[in-house]
Amino acid sequence: MANHKLAGAVADANFFEFGRQIEYKAQRYGSSVVLVDRWYPSTQLCSSCSNLQPMSLSVRIYECSACGLKADRDFNAALNLEQYARQAKPIPDTEG
Ligand SMILES: [Zn+2]
Repeated sequence: MANHKLAGAVADANFFEFGRQIEYKAQRYGSSVVLVDRWYPSTQLCSSCSNLQPMSLSVRIYECSACGLKADRDFNAALNLEQYARQAKPIPDTEG
């Protein structure tokens, strides 16, 4: 990991393997995998009213300026990702 390029290659390989395992487990249990764009603002959206407000990483509690929702930052983000996944189309099974 001392070599920056090597570290990146190892990280890519690990992420590929992680994705492969997620697909495998989902298929095994009859679930589907939904990919979310890396720039989807899951931490900046209000899970109650969809208000979008910027948040610095140090702010750990989401406090919606529109509806007043107050929730743990990560919990709010998890709710947004759940809603995203429910509305998204699952990735088609390419292995038959
Ligand atoms: Zn809100």
